[in-house]
Amino acid sequence: MPGNVLLLNGRILRRDGTIQGPCDILVESGVIKSVTPSVPSASGATSGVTPGTIIGVIPGATSGITPGVTLLQNDPGIGTQAHARTIEAVDCQGCLVSPGLVNLHTHSPMAIFRGIAEDVNVEDWFNVRIWPFESSLTPEDIRIGSMLAISEMLDCGVTAFFDHYFLSEEIAGVAMEAGMRADIAPTIFGMGPRWQESLDEASLLIERANQGAYGNRVRMRMGPHAPYTCTQDVLEACAKRAGELGVGVHIHVSETEKQVHDSIAQYGKTPFERLHEAGLLDIPCIIAHGIWILEQELELLGPDLVFAVAPKTYLKLASGFGNLYRFQLSGGPASGMLQVGIGTDGAASSNTLNPLEQARLYGLLAKNYLADATVYGLKMVWNMLMEGHSALGQNTGDIASGFEADLVVWDFRTPHTWPVYDPLAALIYSAGAGNVRDVLIGGEFKKKAGKVRVFEDTCVFDEAERVKSRLLARGAGRARVKY
Ligand SMILES: [Zn+2]
Repeated sequence: MPGNVLLLNGRILRRDGTIQGPCDILVESGVIKSVTPSVPSASGATSGVTPGTIIGVIPGATSGITPGVTLLQNDPGIGTQAHARTIEAVDCQGCLVSPGLVNLHTHSPMAIFRGIAEDVNVEDWFNVRIWPFESSLTPEDIRIGSMLAISEMLDCGVTAFFDHYFLSEEIAGVAMEAGMRADIAPTIFGMGPRWQESLDEASLLIERANQGAYGNRVRMRMGPHAPYTCTQDVLEACAKRAGELGVGVHIHVSETEKQVHDSIAQYGKTPFERLHEAGLLDIPCIIAHGIWILEQELELLGPDLVFAVAPKTYLKLASGFGNLYRFQLSGGPASGMLQVGIGTDGAASSNTLNPLEQARLYGLLAKNYLADATVYGLKMVWNMLMEGHSALGQNTGDIASGFEADLVVWDFRTPHTWPVYDPLAALIYSAGAGNVRDVLIGGEFKKKAGKVRVFEDTCVFDEAERVKSRLLARGAGRARVKY
């Protein structure tokens, strides 16, 4: 039965970075029911299963719990085999089991543009290479791009992603088909005459999604694109509408130093000042990037705000270090830490959608920016990888009774990760998608024994190749907006 799993003998990595185990993790109906120390299984007794409730092992009844076979667990309340539940037992000996990774900022359909715009500055990246092609994307292109992105993210151990794009109903449909958790912001460009219409369309879609139109794992929030592509009226209208709908926002802010200078020149205000005046910082808000935040803007930040950083994009587009590394440690409310999580941005700028790679780069850059090898340690980088679970609000992000079973089984028996003195070091500094053996979302295997198991009726590679050919044949269209 989907969602009933027993992960045996793995060490576990908790949300706070502590490592425990080996443990047995019992998952029932997609939720972690118990986490208990593993018991050597010569007798077959495993503490994750209540003794006496196992009534058989198929196929080939053996005395104990043999990984890889299916157990029948009697329902004590009913007591008949007819109502028995099947539980799949999977051996995780020698592996590390962690909560799933979250991609806190991406544009998943842009996987279709991977590698289309290299070695260009940020203005040409937007105006010459990307936006003209984006303007000709069809719903089918968006679907295929999303399928490619979700396949890649699952391969990397991502169990939830935050998206920001147009035609987002297509992304939502694909996420639902994959059983992936998603928080999607339909993008609103607020410079043209149609912004009110876009806002109304987005609101309807958000309402439908949050009423369950795309299942209970896909949610939506308000997505004004950025202060530099939205007038003050639009920013205010988005904040007001988000409040009415009871949702948060997701917006790009201060990705480059030039954006900050341009904002001051055009409006006499910094980007965060404009957001603050619009009321966008007083509601749950995901700030994509924000790396060029200024010291005087820190006091404007509300308590329910999280930054989503994607340093691979900054490195490729030569965006500079920014100021976030400096303020992150003490710039939050009451001089606490700013909340910063890890995104990937789209594959058109980052080329990959692996938050682990981004987190690694971010930590390394921070050490160098601050000229201090002792800061941004393993636990802090891990905490940043887990930060997105809070914004998601779907009871994920730890390995303990009552949490949704969104889990990754890491196998470090590869040349680039072995030997393992500290599993967190192996994970943060050495591991890649090849070390992700299994991925579960709500107790369902989405990657198993190294193979992604979604969209199995579609050859995503062939479909993406067809979209690429169509895009090139259509050529560049007219950009929606000038950067
Ligand atoms: Zn972005």
